[in-house]
This record gives sequence, C-alpha cells and structure tokens, in this order.
Amino acid sequence: MNYKNCPNCNAKIGKSLMGKPNELVSQDFYQKLKDFLPDDFIKSGYCGKCVEDLETVYFEATNLYGRYHNYLIGNNVNIHLNEKKVLEGTLKNREQCFEAEKKKLVEAFSKDIVIYSNTPKDIDLVGYVESFQVVNSGMWSTASDNFNPLISVVHDQLASAGSKSDELLTKGFEDSKKYIRYNTCLKKCNTIVDFKHSFSELAGNGKILIYSQGTAGIDKNRPVISFTAIEESNKKKTESIKTQIKEIEDYFASRTLTDLKALIESELKAV
Ligand SMILES: [Zn+2]
Repeated sequence: MNYKNCPNCNAKIGKSLMGKPNELVSQDFYQKLKDFLPDDFIKSGYCGKCVEDLETVYFEATNLYGRYHNYLIGNNVNIHLNEKKVLEGTLKNREQCFEAEKKKLVEAFSKDIVIYSNTPKDIDLVGYVESFQVVNSGMWSTASDNFNPLISVVHDQLASAGSKSDELLTKGFEDSKKYIRYNTCLKKCNTIVDFKHSFSELAGNGKILIYSQGTAGIDKNRPVISFTAIEESNKKKTESIKTQIKEIEDYFASRTLTDLKALIESELKAV
C-alpha cells in the first residue's frame, strides 16, 4: 500500500528537502512487528522515524518505542490491561463473597460447639484456642498499676459501679465465648475443653481485658464443620477468572519493552 504519510507517526513518506528520504519499514520487518505487537496496538505501517530513538519515552510519543511504553503502563487505552483490571475486580468481589459465605457457615455452626471447663474423655484434642475482648466498664480503679486477674476484684468493683457495667461485662463474656467458638470452627473442631476466662484491668482506665482460652477438640459423635462445598464452588467460580488474568500477564511478560527494542535493533542492524 502507498502512503503519503506514515500511518503511525504521520511523518511524510518519500523524498525530503534535506537528508535521506523517509521510507516505511520493509514488509518483512513489519510482519515481525505484527507478530510481536498486540492487534489493538499495531498500525498498518511504520516508517524510519518510528523506529528511531529507542530510549525516548514521553507522554505524547509518536515513535514506536515511546508509544509501546505508554501502552504498557496504560497511558494509552490498553484493552488488555483494562480487561485485567475488570477481572481482578470480579475476583476480589468473589473472594469477599466467599469470606462472607464462610463467616455465615462459621456463625451457624459455632452455636453447636460444646464448651467444657474440664476435659472429658473421648475427645480428640487438636490444639490451643483463645480469644479476647476489651470491655469498657466505666469503672475507675485507684490502683492503676495493678493488673489484677482475680474475678472477685472485678465483681466487687462491679457491685459498686452499678448494673450498666455488669451488662457490659456480661456482653464481653458472651463475645469472648463467641469468638473462641469461631476460632474452634476454623480449626475444624466441635468442642472446647479445659475452658477458662481470665481478666486484666487495663491501666486503670476502666477497661477490662477478658481473655478466654481452651483446647479445641473433636467429639466424634457430633458433626464437624466442613468448608469443602463452598470451597469447591468458589474454586469453580474463580478458576476461569484466574486463568484469564494469567493469560494476559503471560502475554505481556513475553512482549516487554526490552524485547521490542531488541527486535527493532536486530532488524535495523540487518539492513
Ligand atoms: Zn512513522
């Protein structure tokens, strides 16, 4: 095809008033560029000026090197990078959905977790579990440097502080138990044995740390949580998205700016 101007940089093709004439690159050279560059990026021809300045990168670049640089960093519209962004967004949403499904399952299942203060027989012990809650009791202690772990002290103070503190503390206990049950579910256990609470008053500012601990175990006569179904469903939903993202990454990993420069330099040398 005959061009008066370069389809890429718009420079005049043919004789010039000064210097050597500007020509389009050879068909062979163009074919190699066509094989290398993405279809949405490539122009129908490139001239000698397009393949000059293989270090120059600026925002309104007209040479091939600069334009490809901008394309790779997304300054120009790059449909592949845009697609990748959309896919990554979808994947993130999917992961959030999965976490929500998992949380729902844990919340439902944790209600059936049995807590023992002792260690009954026939429970397979799996591992240590713990949780803590900070309760703002509204109480003020005179002994700010005294971290007293004794429940009697807490109760004595509550008695003088009124029922509001008592409610808060009760809620703190419940929450601490709730979270230790969640942690037990996550360990795929259904029982907590050797369960204990302890308290610390935090720096005398009315905040109390409730610390719960125990050993998670499995009672074989009772059901154990399973994440298999939601994990498999999630895997099915995310696999193709991950594959598509990887395809885009792999495509550009084998088409870097350095690769383009090497291609152009070897062609220019061969002339
Ligand atoms: Zn050109």
